[in-house]
Amino acid sequence: MDEPASANGIQWTNAPPAAPGRCYRILSPRPGTPVGGVILGREILGVITHWMDSRTLPCMKVLGHCEGCSAGLPKRWKGYLAILAPGEGRFAILEITEEARRSCEALRDQERNLRGERIMVFRRGTSKRSAVQAQILPFALQPNLPESFDLKEALHRIWRLHWT
Ligand SMILES: [Zn+2]
Repeated sequence: MDEPASANGIQWTNAPPAAPGRCYRILSPRPGTPVGGVILGREILGVITHWMDSRTLPCMKVLGHCEGCSAGLPKRWKGYLAILAPGEGRFAILEITEEARRSCEALRDQERNLRGERIMVFRRGTSKRSAVQAQILPFALQPNLPESFDLKEALHRIWRLHWT
């Protein structure tokens, strides 16, 4: 009698399993410690967020219920860039605050392709709440700039959301 194919313990598939996604760190500068790297994507990915449980989480109001909105927490725009950050073990996510975006002409220019630009963000003052500024640095083009990773997917993983 033939066994069903699945009963012999062999896991036949027609494609390798999806690689477990890597977790990239979200970088945000501490006073006196700028962070940055080379931008991999073309543009900023912006999200409406709340500061909740000591972390930034996306506002989920479009789903009908948002814990942050229900708790009356203010909404904040946060921008993210996929970057190549050698000091961070290759890839990282750079957080761009609204203030940082405002401080940098290249980031405000929505027509501009940011890929390949070298960016640095830093705090202007000595407090961890002082304003963040962004600066594009002069940079000789890197010939072998890797493709960007999937920034949305990386953020989803950080926020522990599921694709819907
Ligand atoms: Zn909300």
